[in-house]
Amino acid sequence: MPTVVKCPTCQAGVTWSEQSPNRPFCSKRCQLIDLGEWSFENNKISTAVTSDTQMSVQDQQEMIEDIEAMLAKNDESFFN
Ligand SMILES: [Zn+2]
Repeated sequence: MPTVVKCPTCQAGVTWSEQSPNRPFCSKRCQLIDLGEWSFENNKISTAVTSDTQMSVQDQQEMIEDIEAMLAKNDESFFN
């Protein structure tokens, strides 16, 4: 019986097997969202002295797209 974990982003069940290349995430999208949130946390810390720490939804989307572009270049090594 395969191990099933919960996607950290959306809590969907993810089978821990070759069928889930993005595990523990259910999808690359959820992986990127989680990575983006991690970046936001760092961003909050590094910009804490400024008042402009809120990112708009559009900014978040742009960041995800940037990450996706970065992953496209480093797809094989980035998460190893
Ligand atoms: Zn998910």
